[in-house]
Amino acid sequence: MQISRPDASPTPGCAPDRTLETGGRVVWETSGMTNADAAVSDIGPTSDRLGMPGTGVLVTGGGSGIGRATAVALAEVGRPVAVWDIDGAGAEETASMCRALGVIAHAAVVDVSDSSIIEEAVTAAAESLGSLGGFVHAAGISGAGVVDDLDEEVWDATLNINLRAAAIICRYLLVPFRAAGPGSAVVLISSIEGLFGSVMLTAYCASKGGVLGVMRSLAQRYAIEGFRVNAVCPGAVATPMLEPAFALPGFREQLEERTPLQRISTPDEIARPIRFLLSGEASFITGAHLTVDGGLTAVTAI
Ligand code: NAD
Repeated sequence: MQISRPDASPTPGCAPDRTLETGGRVVWETSGMTNADAAVSDIGPTSDRLGMPGTGVLVTGGGSGIGRATAVALAEVGRPVAVWDIDGAGAEETASMCRALGVIAHAAVVDVSDSSIIEEAVTAAAESLGSLGGFVHAAGISGAGVVDDLDEEVWDATLNINLRAAAIICRYLLVPFRAAGPGSAVVLISSIEGLFGSVMLTAYCASKGGVLGVMRSLAQRYAIEGFRVNAVCPGAVATPMLEPAFALPGFREQLEERTPLQRISTPDEIARPIRFLLSGEASFITGAHLTVDGGLTAVTAI
């Protein structure tokens, strides 16, 4: 028995041409392609699986830290990159680092918390790269503050940038992802603070826990199209975001002591797992989060 799902996507241009059979199997009415076909078509030579050469990736927060390292890691395997950031100079520097590796790369000043500009910016990114089959949401702020002093502006900014933007961008990615084809994938950056609580980071914990919820919901919606959605939960990474914390006496030393690998990570050590999750090497991984924290959250606190 087949159930019509004509209203499954409210996004203009995203109405799905398919039916959903009871039991969850999806049939594409136009191409006849199934989820299984889409997954199998993603498997090719090892070099192609890692790189998906030629297929563009959008990286938010690409002007610094993990976003920059991710853009460069993707350029290393031949993927064109659109770099978004509110810091235009940082974004342009990253794009230039990617171009030096021989790929097309464009920088754009995009405030991801401004939902009114996202659809147009996604379209422009796809056009500038020639295709768009990957997305990494690395834009973020720490939104520090204990609940006693909860600042509503900080709360709104943290939730809008870290969480809402991820869902809004994904809303508009379906059109370019369909054009790029099976193998398209999303990686959202959560945090170990999305798995556990930190007294000083109420808004941040809310946003990063929310990212995992959005990721699991999107993974089901995108699977209907043959696309994957996952999240990475980094521990402490040496980026400008952590500089205020590292200025606190003993903070870094205590963190390193508690971490089984006895150090914090470089941005590149987060970028490479992100690149893996975007690639055909991860063709059966969706709806998952990958913790990359040197073992910190594996330790019990007795
Ligand atoms: P970072 O400060 O180096 O980079 C964040 C980037 O996001 C900056 O370039 C900033 O300009 C950009 N940005 C901020 N607001 C924006 C907006 N409204 N629109 C577009 N861009 C915006 O920090 P990072 O450590 O590289 O953080 C990247 C992601 O990783 C964040 O989501 C962060 O929460 C997450 N994370 C970081 C750590 C860590 O220890 N550094 C740990 C876990 C998770």
